[in-house]
This record gives sequence, structure tokens and C-alpha cells, in this order.
Amino acid sequence: MTAESPSIFSRIIDRELPADIVAETDDLIAIRDINPQAELHLLVIPKTGAYRDVTELADDPELLAKVVRLAADLAKQYADGQFRLVFNTGAEAGQSVFHVHAHVLAGATLDEGRLA
Ligand code: AMP
Repeated sequence: MTAESPSIFSRIIDRELPADIVAETDDLIAIRDINPQAELHLLVIPKTGAYRDVTELADDPELLAKVVRLAADLAKQYADGQFRLVFNTGAEAGQSVFHVHAHVLAGATLDEGRLA
């Protein structure tokens, strides 16, 4: 894949690939992670592919705040409201998709040793 290729998340947003979509707004989509690491494992993804990771998303604090608010809303809706928010940043830190996304992890099976 070249840097110009749409990310897997852009293809989900464009409905070119299937996903279990749990929420969608003008700016964001939230899906269930295909390889869950906790009882609840969602991804909150800005629709724009302009930001590779959370350090770039920090250039748009309003959008970053929307990610956090949607994560909190979903944790209330699908769990007890408590959650872990993870932004893997860089391949060495486990990032595999370079289209910024937040992992929302919650639920009884959340295991300290198995971060996404
Ligand atoms: P990261 O490794 O932080 O870049 O996170 C990418 C996440 O995307 C991983 O947790 C994958 O399991 C998840 N993932 C990859 N492809 C899909 C897909 N088609 N639908 C849902 N989640 C996906």
C-alpha cells in the first residue's frame, strides 16, 4: 500500500469494506474492533484521513475532544462508563493502521497484560 492509498478505515467509512458500526457522526465513525482485546473493544475513528496518529490529531483539538466525548458516550452505552482510551502511536508501539483511531477498552475481561 502506498502512502496515498486510502486506509482500511477510509474504506470502511466509504462502505467499501464491511464493519460493525456502532456510531456515526459528521466527523467520526465508531466500530467494533475485529480482534477484541477486552469485553468491549471499540475504535473511534475520525472520518478524515488527514491525521496519521494522535500527535497529528492534536493539531485539531476540537476533533480530538469529539473523539474523547464519543468514547465516553459509548462506554456508558455499552459498558459501565469506565474505560481505557489507547492511541497506539508508531509501529514500535503497536500501531498498524496509520489513520488516527482511539481504542476504547472496557468491561470485565479487561486485562492489564493485554492492551490493544
Ligand atoms: P492499531 O494497531 O493501534 O493501529 O489498531 C488497529 C486496529 O484495527 C487493530 O486492533 C485491529 O484489530 C483493528 N482492525 C483492523 N482491521 C479491522 C477491520 N476490518 N474491522 C475492525 N477492526 C479492524
